[in-house]
Amino acid sequence: MDYSQKIARQIAAIPRSGIRDFFELVQGREDVISLGVGEPDFTTPWHIREAAIYALEKGHTSYTSNLGLPALRKSIARYVSDFFHVDYEPLTEVLVTVGVSEAIDIALRALINPGEEVIYHEPCYVSYSPSIAMAYGKAVGVHTRKRDGFSLKPEELAKVITPQSRVLMLNFPTNPTGATANREDLEGIARLCIEHDLMVLTDEIYSELRYDGEEHVSIASLPGMKERCVLLHGFSKAFAMTGFRLGYACAPVAVTEAMMKIHQYSMLCAPIMSQMAAIEALENGAPEVAKMRDAYHQRRDFLVKRLNQMGLDCHSPGGAFYVFPDIRKTGLSSKEFAMKLLQEENVAAVPGNAFGESGEGFLRCCYATGFDDLKLAMDKMERFVGRL
Ligand code: PLP
Repeated sequence: MDYSQKIARQIAAIPRSGIRDFFELVQGREDVISLGVGEPDFTTPWHIREAAIYALEKGHTSYTSNLGLPALRKSIARYVSDFFHVDYEPLTEVLVTVGVSEAIDIALRALINPGEEVIYHEPCYVSYSPSIAMAYGKAVGVHTRKRDGFSLKPEELAKVITPQSRVLMLNFPTNPTGATANREDLEGIARLCIEHDLMVLTDEIYSELRYDGEEHVSIASLPGMKERCVLLHGFSKAFAMTGFRLGYACAPVAVTEAMMKIHQYSMLCAPIMSQMAAIEALENGAPEVAKMRDAYHQRRDFLVKRLNQMGLDCHSPGGAFYVFPDIRKTGLSSKEFAMKLLQEENVAAVPGNAFGESGEGFLRCCYATGFDDLKLAMDKMERFVGRL
């Protein structure tokens, strides 16, 4: 059968993820040290796993309310209020989702009419542009620059706003650059959103992973912003719970209701045992999160130092678990560098352009990898760069 005529045009037009292409090469190879996958190397803390086990033991195997367990929504509202300083009504403004991935999808579908523009800063998480396309929106990427620490500057945002702009997507700390945004820039961005009546999706998935004692500010906490923000967060990164597939969206009632319609008909609800584990994570998980954050912090410092020592210019990112060294001096493209590094030294890192064209000339190295492997990977990379 000729499937080219069967697959929806909208989907056929979406390119495959550059990360996927690259990791198909690596899969099943035990000789490779991977700095590639954006996933904590830590196992979910035991007390959280135990809560999931108890949930099963007690026979909690049913659907939950579409919005999620009321007890979890209350815990989320309390956590978001303490951590982000934004207050949401737990029973009407919090929706539990299958990861932040689902939250991004349903938020975009709830807010975008066909052809409307969604602005995001790139390099960015690989799903943003395809998710916008799947919501029939028009993706508008604003390039961020190394000299700004890959943060989004209000003046750069102002240049791309048009009468068709409807939503701005933010992600600080950023995947893949580890960029953070300071309060002043966020205030400038917020002013533009109010002036141009933009809604904001703020993907806060790395918020707990901030280093150097920096304050994390969510744009949703700035004056006048809660009403135009959808705050997206989840458990995958800080709590090392990727496989639990749990996230949430906090938003004004009308937006939550719209997202809920899509969630209810496509997902029904998030898995109950994951929701029960998430209550434990929010109520008692802070000490384990702090331990993991300290380990990432040490690894970041180590990686930034080693990369700069070997001549790859690398800024020190304020958050997440990625560094984004500049490999342009080597004369290789991002893809050439990553492929040769893999072929010659068995070290896998992701070409920066997998995260948008502004990532060309850079490499994403994820340091959610044990220290021994990180050290070995840096020794190998140093040898590789020395040969170039
Ligand atoms: N948002 C960003 C910026 C990410 O980096 C990721 C995963 O890498 C996600 C969302 C998806 O997270 P989840 O596991 O909660 O679906």
